[in-house]
Amino acid sequence: YQGLAGRSTDEVLQLYAAHGQQLKLQRSSVVTQLLGAIKKRLKEDLKSLHSFALELSKDFQRQSKTCLYQVLAAVQGVQLQNEAMQMFQIKAFDLEQSLQEVTERYEKEKQKRRALHNSLVELRGNIRVHCRIRPLLPFDDAAGHSVAQDRQRNFSEKVAYAADDETVLVKCSRPGHASINKTFQFERVYNDLESQDAVFADVAPLLTSLLDGYNVCIMAYGQTGSGKTYTMLGPQLEGNLVFSIEEESELGIIPRATQEVFRLISEKPPGSYWVEVSVVEVYNNEIFDLLAKDSYGKVLGVKRDVVTTREGKSDVPLLTHETVENASEFLHLVNRGLQLRVRHPTLVHAHSSRSHLVVTLTITTVVFGDNFGTSWEDEQTSQRLNKEVSCTFPQKMRDNKSTSSSRASSPVQLEAIEKMKQVKTRLQLVDLAGSECVGMSGVTGAALRETSFINRSLSALADVLGAIAEQRAHVPYRNSKLTHLLQDSVGGDAKLLVMLCISPGQKYLTESMQSLGFGTRARQVQRGQVKKKNLPVSSKAK
Ligand code: ADP
Ligand code: MG
Repeated sequence: YQGLAGRSTDEVLQLYAAHGQQLKLQRSSVVTQLLGAIKKRLKEDLKSLHSFALELSKDFQRQSKTCLYQVLAAVQGVQLQNEAMQMFQIKAFDLEQSLQEVTERYEKEKQKRRALHNSLVELRGNIRVHCRIRPLLPFDDAAGHSVAQDRQRNFSEKVAYAADDETVLVKCSRPGHASINKTFQFERVYNDLESQDAVFADVAPLLTSLLDGYNVCIMAYGQTGSGKTYTMLGPQLEGNLVFSIEEESELGIIPRATQEVFRLISEKPPGSYWVEVSVVEVYNNEIFDLLAKDSYGKVLGVKRDVVTTREGKSDVPLLTHETVENASEFLHLVNRGLQLRVRHPTLVHAHSSRSHLVVTLTITTVVFGDNFGTSWEDEQTSQRLNKEVSCTFPQKMRDNKSTSSSRASSPVQLEAIEKMKQVKTRLQLVDLAGSECVGMSGVTGAALRETSFINRSLSALADVLGAIAEQRAHVPYRNSKLTHLLQDSVGGDAKLLVMLCISPGQKYLTESMQSLGFGTRARQVQRGQVKKKNLPVSSKAK
């Protein structure tokens, strides 16, 4: 401002303007410079951005290419896998089919082998042994052992199994020892789930044999509570009845066998067969006739004796034989007889029967003298004769004596009666008393006496089997009433089936092993070919 002093206003104004201009010039050159710098910078940035974008797109392309390859590879892999899977599926299908074929062939072979084995059993007169393992039941946990004992040996553990339908597997373990598996082979083994139906299905062919002229005996063996009575009769009811017909699926062998016998008879010419029943109990080595009635018609167990006849057969004189015409009549009769059966609650099982029960069905078949041992040549004639003669049969005589004698008066009929012969075949169904040893059941006094009689009779049975197996000249049938009574079935000409019953629990291991041992020895018995009674009707025997 000092330089302005003394200058005129115009000059000052001019100076200002010049100064402003100068400033403007200066500013614009700075701006230009700045702009230039910014432009340069922008250019550089754009360039680097461009190259970055290029790089990025290249990278993206690279990566997408790799991804594409990967996807392609994966798709190819999946396709290959699909193909492989399809191949596998085809292979699996093929394998499944061949497995099915092999299984079918195996089943066929098994059946063939069974049939062959059956013929062999027949030829050798072997005793058939089937084994049924019952399920574990609530009472297996309780009674007989303290909790400490139970914990120590795990008494309720299952140790007996059906490994397959011919093999029993038993896990034998002792404290401090490693357990060993033992196996036992039988003609048939039933696991704990197999029904009464399944058990009976294997028994039924024997009944066909019965009507074909063979004696048959089916005997349940095992310790108390192992399922003998369940298998032979069915579950025991609380009331008076031993079994009821309402529970058809639960019925045991005895009622089913009777139904089957009557079914088979119904297919034969009417009147050519008739059936008588006897029910016998062997208790403390005494034989009781459970169908005997007093003079008032009241059923009471009458003591009987067993004798050997001149032909060397065992017989029970005076034994009551009741004729039955159908299965329900039979059930009624047996129910009545069984109410007399001696029972004693042991610790093992409250309803254990302490006696051997023998239910016998005697089937009488009418055979005509001329045709004896040959087949009927003229079926119609035989049926006619059968019909005519049938009115003279005992059960008819019982109802209609006078009619029968008056009817059989024509010469043809008299001739027919002369030629008529009767052939008797017998089905013995035996529910043995429990095979356990004394210590097990915890019994004393009278019950101890019972048990010792039971043990003696069962060891007599084992002795008899041993003597037959060794083909000894003397077989000690008479050592016990049981063996004497069963002499013809055990040693004679009957097809004999022993149904071993096994409790699966560890607690019963000793008893189960004893039963399995008995069954194994029984299987080794060879009694020579089972003889057929001469019967005119010939159908295929088992
Ligand atoms: P045992 O006559 O050998 O003394 P039981 O036949 O009386 O034995 O059987 C003892 C118990 O086990 C009964 O309550 C019976 O119902 C039951 N039981 C036996 N076997 C079977 C089975 N296979 N399935 C179901 N329960 C069974
Ligand atoms: Mg019983």
